Amino acid sequence: MHLPTVTLLALAINLIVGIYLYLLYRRKPKDRCFKLWSYSCGFFVLGSALVAMRPYPIPEFFSFFIADCLLLLAPVYVLAGLVQFSRFRYTKRRRQLAFVALAIAITIFLLSYPQPGLLSIMAALAIGLTFCLCAFLLKKSIITEPIFTRTLQAIFVLHALLMFVQAALVLFHWQQLNIHGLPESSIYTLLSHILLTTLTALLLPWLSFLKLERKLTLKSQRDGLTRLANREHFFNQLEYYWQQHPYTPAVFMMIDIDFFKKVNDTFGHAVGDRAIASVAKLLSKQLRSNDIIGRIGGEEFAALLIDIDEHTALQVSQRLCQQVAKQLKSIEDAQVELTISIGMVHVIPSYHDHVTAFKQADEALYASKQAGRNTVTLGKLHSA
Ligand code: GH3
Ligand code: MG
Ligand code: MG
Repeated sequence: MHLPTVTLLALAINLIVGIYLYLLYRRKPKDRCFKLWSYSCGFFVLGSALVAMRPYPIPEFFSFFIADCLLLLAPVYVLAGLVQFSRFRYTKRRRQLAFVALAIAITIFLLSYPQPGLLSIMAALAIGLTFCLCAFLLKKSIITEPIFTRTLQAIFVLHALLMFVQAALVLFHWQQLNIHGLPESSIYTLLSHILLTTLTALLLPWLSFLKLERKLTLKSQRDGLTRLANREHFFNQLEYYWQQHPYTPAVFMMIDIDFFKKVNDTFGHAVGDRAIASVAKLLSKQLRSNDIIGRIGGEEFAALLIDIDEHTALQVSQRLCQQVAKQLKSIEDAQVELTISIGMVHVIPSYHDHVTAFKQADEALYASKQAGRNTVTLGKLHSA
């Protein structure tokens, strides 16, 4: 295997991928990860080019110290770009810690570069640890595409292991190191390092596309005013629940704001909009996080309260009416005095279909309106 040829090829590919990533960044400047990853490719190319110059008479400060600093910055910039895709958040303290860790690594490189073997070990360990952090960040990934994130995670772990093996090889062959401060047997780890770096650079942009896809999917499922599930998504979730939990009892609830037309007519549509958003916020707060809730019409909401008996559901719905009447007496300065009416039915998915449940809950809601509003009606449902 002719290492210089493979290295040259890897450098060319990384350069092209780096330019490609930078062009993506210019196209989408909001996605800073593309800029960071293009810099990462650039650091890798420059660092490797300096390493390739080691046989030539250039100062060791450049061909060893600067070269290894650049090779370390390559995964550090991959890591910085990955933060955008994880639930990890930068705090001032974390940022300071990262800078201190980087400064310590660079100081160690500076002290050890006159001894190439020691520098090789330190560089391999620092790069390996950075790849471990990359794999860890992906564990907290916001990308819900398990096959892709696990593949990328596996590549990072493999890369870290490879770097640790390289450090061990240097240690075991301390007496027979070449001019790079490496044993001849490390040619395979080096080659794999180059290939894995190239593979990572090619895969990274997918993360951004998957994130965009996720954002668009979430947007298409949410109602713009209240951020609750929209009608379509609510019924999709309902169908899914019906399939997945056929024997878990639930309560289907229809909720409608009372005399809302009057609110609009008296205070204007802007106040009306804010009133709808306030009711939605209150409903989300009062219900449990695993209950399904959506805005299915103008001032109409629907909810499926999961794993609940009739008695508890009645208490919950009466509390909802009381809280709306108590908390939403005014929206900003407008004395709107909002109230809601609720119609609901108790269901067991395998015995009742969700279309009938919806119809019966709507009829119960109508009964609440007839009964004077700001009240709850429990409808009856016959088995299918
Ligand atoms: P009831 O107590 O019988 O439910 O009376 P209501 O006035 O609430 O019922 P109706 O269905 O007659 O009126 C609903 C009103 O809600 C009519 C519509 O203008 C208003 N509306 C629907 N969507 C929105 C919205 O997104 N924003 C605002 N401001 N108003 C909306
Ligand atoms: Mg209404
Ligand atoms: Mg209505």
